[in-house]
Amino acid sequence: MKSEVSCKQNILYQNQNGYVIKCKECNHFKVAFGTFCITQTVPEFFEFMVKIYKIRESYKNQNICPEYKCIEVPTPLRNMSWIFNMNDINNLVELLEQACKKIEIEKNFCNN
Ligand SMILES: [Zn+2]
Repeated sequence: MKSEVSCKQNILYQNQNGYVIKCKECNHFKVAFGTFCITQTVPEFFEFMVKIYKIRESYKNQNICPEYKCIEVPTPLRNMSWIFNMNDINNLVELLEQACKKIEIEKNFCNN
């Protein structure tokens, strides 16, 4: 990833919770959500998405209060994790899914 200034950033999706950006040159993704921001390669981005899905699945049937911050999401730092509630994780999934849809649309457009 080059410096922020030199990156040709393409906003895939954004809403009040955050945004997903893809650099047209180095292909890195940047996910900003709430108070965190993470820069990822393409495989890392999709791995992250799968991880978030799995974490959400594991809490789905636990009947927890949607406001209760009990969902721990590991970060690349061993001694640090994010803490979400059910609303947060649903919002993060929405952000990632909308960004993926945009990628699909672009892919189809480029192939035609
Ligand atoms: Zn870049």
